[in-house]
Amino acid sequence: MKSTDVKTPDSGRPMVRAEGVHKSFGHIEVLKGIDLEVAPREVFCLVGPSGSGKSTFLRCINHLEKINAGRLYVDGELVGYRQKGDKLYELRDREVALKRRDIGMVFQRFNLFPHMTALENVMEAPIQVKRESKAVARERAVRLLDRVGLSDRAGNYPAQLSGGQQQRVAIARALAMEPKLMLFDEPTSALDPELVGEVLDVMRGLAEDGMTMIVVTHEMGFAREVGDSLVFMDGGVVVESGHPRDVLTNPQQDRTKAFLSKVL
Ligand code: ADP
Ligand code: MG
Repeated sequence: MKSTDVKTPDSGRPMVRAEGVHKSFGHIEVLKGIDLEVAPREVFCLVGPSGSGKSTFLRCINHLEKINAGRLYVDGELVGYRQKGDKLYELRDREVALKRRDIGMVFQRFNLFPHMTALENVMEAPIQVKRESKAVARERAVRLLDRVGLSDRAGNYPAQLSGGQQQRVAIARALAMEPKLMLFDEPTSALDPELVGEVLDVMRGLAEDGMTMIVVTHEMGFAREVGDSLVFMDGGVVVESGHPRDVLTNPQQDRTKAFLSKVL
């Protein structure tokens, strides 16, 4: 178990920093000025009602959406732009692709390649994206499947695996690119209740190994036990944030209280 009290970040620089991040779709403003920081090695839990902008925020971090105003940094670098003097230049697709390699994302739906085995799914990105040799990719994939407890399933196709197993393969697949940041968007929401624990256990292991993680979840037990900080978002703004234990046991805002009374 990690303790925030003894945690010393690798550097003073946050892994993610959002300053007044705004995002609209047409006339609808979904993110209305998000300010937050995620330290290296931190497990950062993002919670809030459906439609509050959690997925949109993760997608902005991962270059899948462009913000309309504010600044968003990953590991000290602006997302989507290159800064030269006081001018900003939009990154080219190739540059975006390079940056996205460093960020792993796990979705509610696992989206494994159905025609590939678990092992092949985990090997695929390093071979295709990094032009890695099959031997090197295989060696890492074997290690990663072991790490998520699926050594004995390497040769299985997704359809032969349970939802929990598929999600663990999806985590291994994201890890295969050796990301410096992992984004989890409700990774257990699509799972039968009895399969949730095995996925959370894998995430807990990652946290213990020092991975920086932003986790959107309704699993408040996980947030309390594994999270270093928790942000409650509603209506595109950060309503309340703090140590998960404090926010969950002693929420200050009415909106937080109302939400927690429904999910706890
Ligand atoms: P959450 O993940 O917290 O449930 P989302 O970020 O998915 O919230 O969505 C926030 C709001 O943004 C919702 O009202 C949703 O309908 C809207 N939204 C998300 N993506 C798009 C899009 N591509 N086009 C238009 N509206 C969108
Ligand atoms: Mg969402």
